[in-house]
Amino acid sequence: MLVSSTMNLPLYSVRMRAALGGRHLAGAERLVAGAAVSKVTAELTQRAMLCSDGPADEIHCSIERIESARVRYACLPDVSTSQVDDWRQGRRLASQLLTRAGVCAEVASRALALLADGAGPGGAVMRGAVIMDAVNGERLEADPRRGVRVSRMDITAALRPRLVKSLAAAGLGHHRVLEALTLAGKVLLAPGLVAELCWSDDPAYSAGYVAAPQAGYQRIDILKPAGDRRGGRVFFVEREAAPLSALVDYLERQAILFDAAGAIAAPEKWRAGDA
Ligand code: AMP
Repeated sequence: MLVSSTMNLPLYSVRMRAALGGRHLAGAERLVAGAAVSKVTAELTQRAMLCSDGPADEIHCSIERIESARVRYACLPDVSTSQVDDWRQGRRLASQLLTRAGVCAEVASRALALLADGAGPGGAVMRGAVIMDAVNGERLEADPRRGVRVSRMDITAALRPRLVKSLAAAGLGHHRVLEALTLAGKVLLAPGLVAELCWSDDPAYSAGYVAAPQAGYQRIDILKPAGDRRGGRVFFVEREAAPLSALVDYLERQAILFDAAGAIAAPEKWRAGDA
């Protein structure tokens, strides 16, 4: 629990996006105390310069003050990891987890094919996420080039070292896991959210996950072939549950800090007959 004097201080949303030759290269978002803004901005900028496909030729950082009264505190979802033999098996598992969460089977297949082909115009990687109707597969995001970018979320400075240690103990020490878990934690609290599917666009990182409100953050260690530059995110929604504008406003603008973690299970080998 944070002491109240810390809770009353304003926080700063720090966002970075980087491009190379007009193509999305990297992005990151943090929500930190004023004293940490310059350090975090430098870290994110350095990441854009050092990323495996870089260095970036364009980096945009934006910093915005968030009043402490507007920040919501929450607990991160439980984490589980399935180890698969290859990306085909990983995608079969992803499809099963999506249907178990309430996504129609054909919609799950459509989403997997969309990320495999590149969800942006002409097969480009999007900067943000696709929003997809979980029943009929219709794409709902206003701009299919940009998608919806989730921001203004982080874990508290008090939780961070404990969480980093617990994740590392489960073999999940990569900084991408921490960041994806934080993003998924915010997404799972969104109105009308049924599930999220993600795998990275980083050619050197083949893992991904399916997240769902009841099941938590379900990591799959291989979801794409090594070296593949395509990746993305799909948020599946129940359209009647909430207006799209409320969903997008929540994802883009609601500040959320995670001050507690869920259970973190050790990785388990997935057998195709398990589901
Ligand atoms: P990453 O896990 O950072 O490699 O991102 C994989 C893909 O997820 C990116 O290509 C984007 O399409 C999408 N994405 C990354 N960050 C966000 C975000 N903050 N909000 C929504 N979508 C994102």
